[in-house]
Amino acid sequence: MQFESLDIIEPILKSLKEEGYTTPTPIQVQAIPIVLKGTDLIGCAQTGTGKTAAFAVPVLQLLSNNKSFERKRKIRSLVVTPTRELAIQIEESFKAYGRYTGITCTVVFGGVNKNPQTNALRNGVDVLVATPGRLLDLMNQGYISLKDVGIFVLDEADRMLDMGFIHDVRKIIAALPQKRQSLFFSATMPPEIVKLAGSIVYKPVKVEVTPSATTVDIVNQSVYFIDKGNKNALLLELLNDKKIKTALVFTRTKFGADKVVKVLKKKNITAEAIHGNKTQNARQRALSNFKSQATRVLVATDIAARGIDVEDLEYVINYEIPNIPETYVHRIGRTGRAGADGTAISFCDAEEKPYLKDIEKLITKKIRVVNDNPFPLIDNNPVKAPGQQHRNNHSRVESHRGR
Ligand code: AMP
Repeated sequence: MQFESLDIIEPILKSLKEEGYTTPTPIQVQAIPIVLKGTDLIGCAQTGTGKTAAFAVPVLQLLSNNKSFERKRKIRSLVVTPTRELAIQIEESFKAYGRYTGITCTVVFGGVNKNPQTNALRNGVDVLVATPGRLLDLMNQGYISLKDVGIFVLDEADRMLDMGFIHDVRKIIAALPQKRQSLFFSATMPPEIVKLAGSIVYKPVKVEVTPSATTVDIVNQSVYFIDKGNKNALLLELLNDKKIKTALVFTRTKFGADKVVKVLKKKNITAEAIHGNKTQNARQRALSNFKSQATRVLVATDIAARGIDVEDLEYVINYEIPNIPETYVHRIGRTGRAGADGTAISFCDAEEKPYLKDIEKLITKKIRVVNDNPFPLIDNNPVKAPGQQHRNNHSRVESHRGR
């Protein structure tokens, strides 16, 4: 499939070629025709799938086909995204793909002086990319009107919720015209997100992409059954292996991520945490240290890991098993890219067994259990509902249930 077969106009095709894109990604193949038809969309896709172009390209095309000849441009498309980093990336994408269309784009985000942003807005702009807080601020001060927005994009909705922006998002939606096209993107679709989507989109078409099954298939996956209290010791034991040059370790909580970093640092293993409590700069720094291998272990929560794209990442360690099975696929999809060998090791305690079962159901295969386990789980209740109290009975060594 080529971009040409998606009926993309020449000026945009030309810029895509210049960007070095030859074939559209799966989310682009699915989303671009829907958006071009003017239909509302729910896109379930994470960063790294090419989702920005999946909405930016058709939005540019729709605006370009319907040029405004007014002296001062009005905001005809609004993209709201949770972080400044994403906002900047999205603006850059619109500028790159739209460079031959004459469509203009600007970005507003918090934490910096407003003047350059208000100056850019004063001249009028077709596409505005914004983070929620600064957008509301500038709306309240009269710098921004949303009454001409015909296409609204909400990006990374689940992260928006996680970062506490839900009230801001609702206020923004209330200021949009009723009659509009809405594109709603989220990496995950828990019930609150489905509800939020329902309040934004009208007769939407849903498209969904997860890292492809083949990516998951080529990753060497294994699981250690282990007591919660032994997870640090097992992590240190594994990291004794110098073959592991770098590893991305996932924890479920920010607090957990910081605790793991502390343990590793104590043993002189270079480690940094990346999560929502860190400033954008601190996250960026941690990521570049990890990419340059100055930091051996990056400990991340799922939300913060969104957008992390490290070439040649060989090891992903699930210190905790995610309770949403798709999250496991997203996590391990970060390794084994482009045919490289990837290894994903999971630590599963008694309470996490049901999560593991859900994952195995989703990936339709059993994950290999490591029998050579220095800290075998001692448990006589192999599968329990999550959160249920677990009582130890030292009658059976769980790890020897090996397959
Ligand atoms: P995104 O998921 O939008 O953050 O995009 C991830 C990366 O893929 C970005 O660096 C894009 O420039 C790149 N990209 C997006 N679409 C394509 C494509 N069709 N071909 C090659 N690279 C792409």
